[in-house]
Amino acid sequence: MSQTFSHKKSLSIIHSPIMAWAILFISLILTIAAYSIASNQVDARARERFIFRSEEITSAIKERLQIYEQTLRGGVAFVNSSDPVTREGWKQYVESIEIDQYWPGIQGLGFAIPVQPEDKASHIESIKKQGFPDYSIKPPGNRDEYSSIIFLEPFDWRNQRAFGYDMWSNEMRRAAMKRARDHGKAATSGLITLVQETDDDVQIGFLTYLPVYKNKNLPATLEQRRTEFIGWVYAAFRAGNLMQGILGLDDKGVDFQIYDGEKQTDEALLFTSNKSIPLESSANTYQFSRQISLQGRTWTLHFSTPLDYKNPEKDQPLFVLLIGVMVDLLLFYVLFALHSVNKKAEHLALEITEDYRQAKEREQEANQAKTRFLSNIAHELRTPLNSIIGFTNIIIRKSKDLLPDDQKSALKTVKKNGEHLLDIINELLDLSAIEAGKVNLNLQPVKINQLIQQQDVAWRFSASEKQLEFEMHLSEENIELVSDRKKILQIIDNLMSNATKYTETGKILIRTELSFREEMHPETNGTPPSGNNAVAIRISDTGVGISQQEQSKLFNEFMRTSTAEKSAIQGTGLGLYITAELTHLLGGHIECDSKQGQGSTFSIYLPL
Ligand code: ADP
Repeated sequence: MSQTFSHKKSLSIIHSPIMAWAILFISLILTIAAYSIASNQVDARARERFIFRSEEITSAIKERLQIYEQTLRGGVAFVNSSDPVTREGWKQYVESIEIDQYWPGIQGLGFAIPVQPEDKASHIESIKKQGFPDYSIKPPGNRDEYSSIIFLEPFDWRNQRAFGYDMWSNEMRRAAMKRARDHGKAATSGLITLVQETDDDVQIGFLTYLPVYKNKNLPATLEQRRTEFIGWVYAAFRAGNLMQGILGLDDKGVDFQIYDGEKQTDEALLFTSNKSIPLESSANTYQFSRQISLQGRTWTLHFSTPLDYKNPEKDQPLFVLLIGVMVDLLLFYVLFALHSVNKKAEHLALEITEDYRQAKEREQEANQAKTRFLSNIAHELRTPLNSIIGFTNIIIRKSKDLLPDDQKSALKTVKKNGEHLLDIINELLDLSAIEAGKVNLNLQPVKINQLIQQQDVAWRFSASEKQLEFEMHLSEENIELVSDRKKILQIIDNLMSNATKYTETGKILIRTELSFREEMHPETNGTPPSGNNAVAIRISDTGVGISQQEQSKLFNEFMRTSTAEKSAIQGTGLGLYITAELTHLLGGHIECDSKQGQGSTFSIYLPL
């Protein structure tokens, strides 16, 4: 009971509109939280991808530059192995490595030599003799030391501009050339504009030098390195072409700049992957910097996401938000609808209950009217009927010898039918009293054996009228119970008169005994019975009996067995119904045990 109540209560909370609003509120907050988590994750993943790509580019650049150094080493090996090194030989070497195809970004591979001021004139003369009558060391003018690019392949028009150029005269180049000569290692210059550059597509460039010494091995001391020094094998790089060669044409998702040195200034900018973006990238893009050191110089790589960068996962959080809000609203709608459906159902239930109550009331009123009518009419009938029976009795007694036999028997029939009518009226009165719930009990101690014993003469007489034997077996105990003695008598009387009525030969037996009835002790609840709690009154006959099938309906109103209906025995089918009702009113129980054609036993159990 309380469980159903709390269940109902919890249901009504779920169905309340406040709950719907509360759930909407909470679910919206959860959705927003999910949105922000998704945004953060998408952002973190994009940043991860960005950093990963940046690292990839960094190591690609580093690796490729180390590999490029190998072409220079090849050049050194070539110079060392050819004595003397000729213009034709150098040309063939450079052609053989196929710069265009394999080494994009190298503008030229060259060989430059130092020239002492005292050797300058003879040097120029010897080169002129090789078929270059216009040859001179550039830029013109007198300096303490000179150098000259004597071979530079491919010897196209662009590279011809650099032929004879004195790289030593330029501070940026001189620093790297000196480093290479004095340390015997590859040395890369700072940023320069190659002399090969013309006015269009001017690219920043740099140079990488490797030294060549007389005895072919790296001399041990600085002094020896300077005296045994022959020249530089060098490569001229154009940064734009080099990076395109390393990375392919475009790299969506990452922009980067390469700076020579550790500072990210305009002057130090070697390369930018996207010329159109301003150097200070906007704040909402990812940024990342790395330094690499190669051939004695440090480069700083700075990565950022392009301005037009669009994260492919960018819309995911928005989807999460949209779908989440939709689900929230749907949930809200369902809860709200549930609430109104519930309301309607409650309303409907109330209406039905009200209708039912009114119908019940009307039915009760009708029943009461019927009962009132019945009892009034029965009462009105009983009075004249009693006088008819009374007067008939007097006439029968007083006219004993005066009337002829046929008239006497007619009077007896009048009396008999009158009595039968009275029986019916009495039964109807009982019925209406029972149905109206107006049976008043007069409870008092009843000695059951005594009560039955007192009826002995009357019952014996009625039995004898039908030539039936009559026996009475009363229990030895002095059984006493608190009950209504008149009602007990009415019950037993009914059963006795049925027994005589439905028996032609044999005997009628009435017994009493103490008994135990489970249903009269509900509290014992499975524990063993503690003695007798009822008196059993049994009325047996040797009459027509009742079939098994009909026994089940025996105590219904107006029930008569087919045997009874077929016979001439008069009856209403109300007696057993009234008997059973009265027994129940007394807190008792009635049972029938019978076999068709062999007699019946009706047992009444009354609580002690
Ligand atoms: P009635 O007025 O017909 O006797 P009751 O209510 O007293 O009505 O009995 C209902 C029916 O039960 C009877 O019509 C009869 O068929 C059957 N009946 C009752 N008592 C007995 C009995 N002792 N033996 C056989 N049939 C019985």
